[in-house]
Amino acid sequence: MPEEPSYAPATRLVGLGRPARTPGAPAGPGIELSSTYVAGDGPAYGRFTNRTWEALEQVLGDLEGGAALTFSSGMAAVSACLELTPQGGTVVLPEHVYNGSSSLVDQLAQSGRVVPRRIDPTDTAAVIAALEGADLVWLESPTNPMLEVADLPAILSAARELSVVSVVDNTFNTPLLARPLQLGADVVVHSVTKFLAGHSDVVLGALVTSSGTLHDRLHSHRTLHGAIPGPHEAWLALRGMRTLHLRLERSCANAERLAERLAGHPAVAQVRYPGFGAIVCIELVGGRSAAEAVEQTVRLWLPATSLGGVESSLERRRRHAAEPQSVPEELLRLSVGVEDVEDLWRDLDAALRSH
Ligand SMILES: *Cc1c(COP(=O)(O)O)cnc(C)c1O
Repeated sequence: MPEEPSYAPATRLVGLGRPARTPGAPAGPGIELSSTYVAGDGPAYGRFTNRTWEALEQVLGDLEGGAALTFSSGMAAVSACLELTPQGGTVVLPEHVYNGSSSLVDQLAQSGRVVPRRIDPTDTAAVIAALEGADLVWLESPTNPMLEVADLPAILSAARELSVVSVVDNTFNTPLLARPLQLGADVVVHSVTKFLAGHSDVVLGALVTSSGTLHDRLHSHRTLHGAIPGPHEAWLALRGMRTLHLRLERSCANAERLAERLAGHPAVAQVRYPGFGAIVCIELVGGRSAAEAVEQTVRLWLPATSLGGVESSLERRRRHAAEPQSVPEELLRLSVGVEDVEDLWRDLDAALRSH
């Protein structure tokens, strides 16, 4: 793709991260399988860098507006970010953050590595007050699975003023719906596993930062802790990302339609949908047993954890012991895929009415 800053995100998703256009060059990057390289300039060893990762990092970094680093999983990326906290430092995080990130903070807290300070991300004044004396603030907006939305511009600018390192997990939004670095975040985290890769066939993570100092620290963390992606996984993720804009457009349109209809459904007590994105949560009138029955009755929707695939899936989040008690037992999280919306509705409606 020619260097052209005016190209829209859709064009950049398709065109970046490709080999130079010389006669006979392939259209896309190969899967570079090499643990070592001929000594001299350029790559030296397969734990330091890899050209397949670099192609993916170029596309994701460009879209978020920083430099990206891929990791072996979203959690490897989360863990690398938390290492930015000094020994015994305070981490401000929402009550309903992704439960893997929350559990890792709790585990680090047990050994005194960090001190968690949990907040309600919708109470902006309380979040800003909690930043006083803190070292790092962790944000998700919307949160998983309660879909609470934070005032990111206000919180991120307060964090910057107080020199608190800010990290935004942008997995639910992707850079097409939110670009936290532009709002002042220091680091963006992705579970590439979800919408970015998009086909439920790869586990991968990434970090993006516009600070050279943070990039060097995080790169060094990846190299020394060794949480590197496999070249196959990076290639699959980049291939998936080429159609992110198309998948997300359809998923979001489907989610909006379903959220509207679910709001009037007799089996549904409450719909949580922030008005954007492809995740919708519903709380059932019939409680936990009704939610479990829906998981077992759907035929088209996949009853499974994870999200962001082309296929629609759903899950009662409280089936995981790590999920906080404040998440209702009867809450089902729906990850809306790209199927025909009428087929999705019929299947869900039938499952909701069957008991
Ligand atoms: C899945 C997920 C993660 C963890 O990513 P993995 O790729 O499963 O390690 C982190 N944050 C959010 C919001 C997620 O949904």
